[in-house]
Amino acid sequence: MEVVITGPLASPPAPSLDRTSTTNPGDQMAHAHTAARDRLTDHLPVLRATLNQQRRFRLQQLAELEAEIDRATAPTNAADTARHEVTIKLAAAARQVLADIDETLTLITTGRYGRCRRCHAEIPVHLLQIIPTSRWCLNCRQHLTPPVCVEMTHARF
Ligand SMILES: [Zn+2]
Repeated sequence: MEVVITGPLASPPAPSLDRTSTTNPGDQMAHAHTAARDRLTDHLPVLRATLNQQRRFRLQQLAELEAEIDRATAPTNAADTARHEVTIKLAAAARQVLADIDETLTLITTGRYGRCRRCHAEIPVHLLQIIPTSRWCLNCRQHLTPPVCVEMTHARF
């Protein structure tokens, strides 16, 4: 009987199972929803710890650089001048990173972390693990990388 073959083939799909237990479909959807949202929440303690660690490192680095800038007397030769300029640039970069970290920690505290600044899409967790201060999704990041750098530099200084 060929009809017997079409029967089992039609019945396995999920909809028929859903009909047998009426409460399950909604539960399953709710679960899938929270699971997706929980993924970032699950990573938040680690991301926050990473950011705090980076923050401490940058604060220390900045303190050392600023002490070096303070100690520096008027450069007498080209090498000293170049060295002094590099130190100032490094201090500016450290300050910039520190500001980004602080802003990111604020976003976490206020529950706005993990959303693309431009398109408001969720930023993939794996990207946040690599760059916890990222505020752009992969797509926007690709399109904006050079302007973003300029924009950020101008915003700070
Ligand atoms: Zn985006």
